[in-house]
Amino acid sequence: MLVDVHGHIGRVLTDRREFVEVTNLIAKMDAWGIDRTCVLPLSESPEGGYLECDTEDVIAACARYPDRLTPFCLIDPRFRNHPQIDFSDLLEEYKARGCKALGELLPKLDFDDPRALNLYRQAGQYGLPVLFDMMDSETGYGLRDGHGLPRLEHALQTCPETVFIGHGPTFWAEISAEVPPGERTGYPQGAIVPGGAVPRLLRRYDNLWADISAGSGYNALTRDPAFGLEFLEEFQDQLMFGTDSCARSDVNRIPPNVALWRDLTENRKLPEAALEKIAWQNAERLLQS
Ligand SMILES: [Zn+2]
Repeated sequence: MLVDVHGHIGRVLTDRREFVEVTNLIAKMDAWGIDRTCVLPLSESPEGGYLECDTEDVIAACARYPDRLTPFCLIDPRFRNHPQIDFSDLLEEYKARGCKALGELLPKLDFDDPRALNLYRQAGQYGLPVLFDMMDSETGYGLRDGHGLPRLEHALQTCPETVFIGHGPTFWAEISAEVPPGERTGYPQGAIVPGGAVPRLLRRYDNLWADISAGSGYNALTRDPAFGLEFLEEFQDQLMFGTDSCARSDVNRIPPNVALWRDLTENRKLPEAALEKIAWQNAERLLQS
């Protein structure tokens, strides 16, 4: 059993030829051996995906394949632009319509901006984990934090009822205590220096989880292979498999995240119990409510 906790449909990339129909997503899952995918909207924030991948699109697409797809919902914390806006109508509706988490959250705001904290807190009250993208890029997208992730830690403390699911280049760069200048938005290479913010916060806060999707998750787990295996084993109760596949043409290749997972399972590089948790049990446990 394999659950992809981070999938997309619609026009995520500006190139319309890469439009991901729901049937295309199912074809990718069949080709890669994925049983269920969580589908994450992107279009609610201007920094997000391009077109035709908002919460309504996601709910409608998932309704066609209820045995294979799980919808997430998305709200921009700047909606009406005040730190005390009440989101309960939206959260209650999305939850009633089957959405299991909020994400992919990626506005260009400080991670602990009061408007973001307001949304995190309310999502937690409705039992909806928050899957975020973190990237410090002027021309890109994603929530912002400094070295050591102090703003994420502030949110973890301020919103103890909310489960946060970490994702993205800046989050994963902080797996190491040393983050090379200029590489907080990329894929740092080489040995991981112990004492990084990501393992420190995962150890300290049980409301921090992470998905291991995308180039950033893959890079963090493979740049220092021995560290990667130890990391997966230590945090086997807080990590979830994912791909973050965004393109129609991905059906023609095996994504690195899937290839890594096949290597780990076929060559028994982790204990069976850890593999099962990261592959699907953790997602089922977190998203069952
Ligand atoms: Zn994504």
